[in-house]
Amino acid sequence: MREGIIQSSAVLEAFKSIDRAWFVPEGLREEAYFDVPLLIPGGQTISQPTTVAIMTEALKLEYGMKILEVGAGTGYQAAIIGKIIGPKGRVFTIEYDSELAKLARENLSKTPVSNVEVMVGDGGLGYPQEALYDRIILTCAAADFPPPLLGQLKPKGVILAPLGSRFQQWLIRGTKTKSGIARENLGGFLFVPLRGRYG
Ligand code: SAH
Repeated sequence: MREGIIQSSAVLEAFKSIDRAWFVPEGLREEAYFDVPLLIPGGQTISQPTTVAIMTEALKLEYGMKILEVGAGTGYQAAIIGKIIGPKGRVFTIEYDSELAKLARENLSKTPVSNVEVMVGDGGLGYPQEALYDRIILTCAAADFPPPLLGQLKPKGVILAPLGSRFQQWLIRGTKTKSGIARENLGGFLFVPLRGRYG
């Protein structure tokens, strides 16, 4: 908050009530509160808390929203979002790796949040069963927003993703307008790559 990264009390409350230690591998519990990304099974990473905070604020979440996340990983980002949008909101998070999806479900069961559903699949294709979404977030990097996701976004909805090449990405916030997607660049980041059809 002092550094202006966490800006809203809703995001602060979510970080207070969702313990990152529930989501990091057992051998790394002591590192859970360091502001660094950590390795999780399958060669993937749980993002550093600052990155989760920046992305969460950038989504401009509101109570009761319907959210799609691509890249459940440990489930940490999804839990933070689930807490903020409250019991009337819903988070659908897709994970490519079925073992990680299982892990995310186990981790989420330790939290007070019960509005997050974890699915296995290629998140680049979205999850049309529950579309349209108020917000779509990718926690893995793509060359551009996968077209199916843009089709599953509500008018005026926001899509957030690290876009670029394997070793350099910009966090781009797209807002759906009548004429297309208005883009804002929120700065440089490094994420693991999107896999599947649009990877
Ligand atoms: N949000 C996670 C961090 C995710 S790391 C957390 O809070 O812990 C990125 C994740 O994206 C990895 O778990 C990776 O397996 C997943 N991923 C990569 N390509 C994907 C795809 N096409 N569909 C769904 N998940 C994908």
